[in-house]
Amino acid sequence: MLTLILPDEISSLIIEALLKSGSREVGGILMAEHTGVNEFTIRDITVQKRGAFASFFRKIEDALGRLNNFFDKAYHDYSRFNYLGEWHSHPSFEPIPSPKDDQSMFQIVQDVSVGANFAVLLIVKLNATSTMIGTAHTYFPDGNKARALTPTIRST
Ligand SMILES: [Zn+2]
Repeated sequence: MLTLILPDEISSLIIEALLKSGSREVGGILMAEHTGVNEFTIRDITVQKRGAFASFFRKIEDALGRLNNFFDKAYHDYSRFNYLGEWHSHPSFEPIPSPKDDQSMFQIVQDVSVGANFAVLLIVKLNATSTMIGTAHTYFPDGNKARALTPTIRST
């Protein structure tokens, strides 16, 4: 099972985005460092508006500049720092993947131009006490999907 670590500074970035977005969905991409066996630590994220609709089409072109900055910072050490996947909020729903979320994640992971062996989807929301709760799932090109551990996020 894959373990996804969110350091405090990344959690703060996400909580800030959730507070700003209110009842609108927000999301972006996850950039991570491979920090252990089946363990990835999020090192940077992008934050993109998702508009009024619950469905989200990621705008990878918006993220490319940010990705390049990240890779410059990481000295192009692609073996350790890499695109890990996506995150978004479900302000009005349980933070679990919808059928549409599953579909778009399988599209990403099965896209040969992305060339990923897997991709992670992190879904978060704020509960009544403004605590971040969420889930993470790993998607594989063969059509499999597995729950990932998120020890620094309260699960639902
Ligand atoms: Zn969703």
